[in-house]
Amino acid sequence: MSVPDDRRPTLAFAGATHTGMVREANEDNYVAEPMVFAVADGMGGHAAGEVASEIAADRLRARLKDGAASVDLMVAAVVEANAAIFQAAHSDSSQRGMGTTVVALAALVGPAFPTRLVLANVCDSRAYLFRDGILKRISVDHSYVQELVSTGHITEHEARTHPRRNIVTRALGIEPTVKVDTWVLPLVRGDRYLLCSDGLVDEVDDLDISIILEQESDQQAAADRLVAKANDNGGHDNTSVIVIDVLEGDEDPPVDFVPEFRPEVVLVDADPPPHGNPEIIVVPDEVEPPGRLRALLGTRRRRVVAAVEAVVVVAAIATVVALVLGG
Ligand code: MG
Repeated sequence: MSVPDDRRPTLAFAGATHTGMVREANEDNYVAEPMVFAVADGMGGHAAGEVASEIAADRLRARLKDGAASVDLMVAAVVEANAAIFQAAHSDSSQRGMGTTVVALAALVGPAFPTRLVLANVCDSRAYLFRDGILKRISVDHSYVQELVSTGHITEHEARTHPRRNIVTRALGIEPTVKVDTWVLPLVRGDRYLLCSDGLVDEVDDLDISIILEQESDQQAAADRLVAKANDNGGHDNTSVIVIDVLEGDEDPPVDFVPEFRPEVVLVDADPPPHGNPEIIVVPDEVEPPGRLRALLGTRRRRVVAAVEAVVVVAAIATVVALVLGG
């Protein structure tokens, strides 16, 4: 499907990625093409994380190179990437337990509406909007500390240094299907989007990110400086960033944008998988999942155990009732 020129948003963009100062390999991958952008931060030992993030990047590049004709097609591309990673992980024992984050921004080019942008997120890579000198996070992390923040147990500030901030609650490749959060965003001239892996936000605070985005009008210069800043501050993780500027767009931003911005569309459930129950994955005990995923997989194990216990309790009650009635 080719997209007419008048439906292609005019965007200027650049990406950068770096292994960092501590890790031996870069398990991040990114996509930066005229109609689709994505950051994927792979997780898993023995280079499996790199495989997972590469599968995600390849699938999104292939499916969304002409943008997304609908939000559902964006979701479908992410769900397809999830299934491909899940399948790869289960067909090669060296890749068992691998997973990846994904945050993706694509042109939304359906014929029935004006061209907009659609954002999709799974896990804890992030999308920010920088408008009028103010940095606003759009995506919501699927992580343990995000849940603590959302329920008021800790502040955003405390979350930055929380010892369990690396535990994620949703990722691509862990279950046969995945829930994808999406947002539809207006095209507003002058808006600057930032997609990044956690290697950036763990090392560079919002103020320093804002200063760099304000000072560097060139997208590549901004991306390179953000990565360099993460490395200057320790570079404990791989860092990937994409900076995207909206050069043309005739939609006015909401007047109350800064304090009140809310995504237009949130959370589109993926279709249930054609096989199996997405809630139950039996992870063999001999498999040692990588650290960030251990808690996630542990939750699944506990859920399986709880389901078995529930069945046993119900069977016991039924037996007692049958005995009482029979007697
Ligand atoms: Mg990372």
